[in-house]
Amino acid sequence: MRKNSKLLEQVLADCLQYFPPFRLMIETAATKSKYNIALWENMVCADFGIEWHRVSVNWGLIKDKTDLIESVCHELVHAFQYENGLETDHGKEFANWCAFFTLQHDINILSSDVLAEDFYLACEAFVKV
Ligand SMILES: [Zn+2]
Repeated sequence: MRKNSKLLEQVLADCLQYFPPFRLMIETAATKSKYNIALWENMVCADFGIEWHRVSVNWGLIKDKTDLIESVCHELVHAFQYENGLETDHGKEFANWCAFFTLQHDINILSSDVLAEDFYLACEAFVKV
């Protein structure tokens, strides 16, 4: 996809609706990272004691708007994990988010290193609630 900062801001606003309010500001950016379609970073300006999230996307790897939504939601989960003192990884807690997004919103935020078993169990638990 061609770089489109406006679309990214709009998609971010849409994706934020799926999360409880964030404490820190969220900045969007473009990245040329070769391997990641998107990235979450914890940004700190020590001089001013300011902290914020940066969600960046690799426009070269984003195919379409669906890809963009999935990627932003995925990175926002990491922002959520960080704000809530959780590991910013793709473990069991992340698998819960995968189940939530897949079953509730038809959004695929899965990462290749999410264990199939974790995802399956999370989906099962989610359906039972
Ligand atoms: Zn991730």
